[in-house]
Amino acid sequence: MNNIYTPSAENIARAAEIIKNGGLVSFPTDTVYGLGANVYNAAAVANIFKAKERPLFDPLISHIANIDFLSEYACTDERAITLAKHFWPGPLTFVLRRKDNNPAIDLACAGLNSIAVRMPNHPVALELIRQSGVPIVAPSANRFKTVSPTTAQHVQDSLGNKVDMILDGGACTIGVETTIIDLTGKHIVILRAGVMAKEELEAIKRKKIYLSHDNPELPKAPGQLLKHYAPRMPLRINVADHDVREDEFFIGFGKVRGARLNLSPSGNLCEAAANLFAYLREAEKHDEYKGIAMSPIPENGLGLAINDRIRRASYKE
Ligand code: AMP
Ligand code: MG
Repeated sequence: MNNIYTPSAENIARAAEIIKNGGLVSFPTDTVYGLGANVYNAAAVANIFKAKERPLFDPLISHIANIDFLSEYACTDERAITLAKHFWPGPLTFVLRRKDNNPAIDLACAGLNSIAVRMPNHPVALELIRQSGVPIVAPSANRFKTVSPTTAQHVQDSLGNKVDMILDGGACTIGVETTIIDLTGKHIVILRAGVMAKEELEAIKRKKIYLSHDNPELPKAPGQLLKHYAPRMPLRINVADHDVREDEFFIGFGKVRGARLNLSPSGNLCEAAANLFAYLREAEKHDEYKGIAMSPIPENGLGLAINDRIRRASYKE
């Protein structure tokens, strides 16, 4: 089945409905084709990881069409707004502190307290985001470990019917990753080098911009960290329900007894992925417990990504 559509007003309106209803739409940006979902729909975000067959949960960049969207979910200040006004729309991604702990965006942020945002310089992308009315998370629209797609046909070849609709905006002009800057601290730090050069940023801010790999004290892009998000309490994984200790908050999966929360009572990995970070955060609020225990998760499909992340977050006895 061919999922490629011309970006007519009618097709963009249809694509926006798909996004609003939790589906996946691939669309062109200035850099590469993105695989898009509503940032506030964790099940849709889980489907992105499933479609890409990514064996781990990397936090995703959300795309907005208007600077006003920022204040919905990110903390902004004069520095961020100045940079946004100067460089957006364009291939520059900001990492900002999250405004609150809205659990709906936990999976998109991989449980971190920061969110990555940008405004892509592409009319189809901007119109789609505007009509959807929500920020759209969009990693590159390709399967894990394959080349990033710069045409609609690449997306069709790589993801086929795993995506509900592909909007064809011709070939992307840049084809390289965006530059990611961290704006959560005192200094502006480049987390990932990309199309936008350090010198361009310095010219506008007239301040030194730091490169994260220059200095071990500065933040790193989470993709480069081994230990991403970890809950404040020790986490034991692969725990059967009868082995849960009295002082542990039990997060179950499938048919288990005594779970305080269950990632998916029916054993659905997509549902479990959508709930994972929000449930870990919920568990760590309960300081009447000394730790968190989690049921075994099957090692297939999205289970690989779930296991990868909880293994990193788990406590070594
Ligand atoms: P991309 O590969 O272009 O989809 O960009 C994803 C990368 O953006 C991740 O691997 C992170 O390095 C960075 N990123 C995304 N979200 C966040 C976040 N919430 N906090 C910090 N960095 C992020
Ligand atoms: Mg990619």
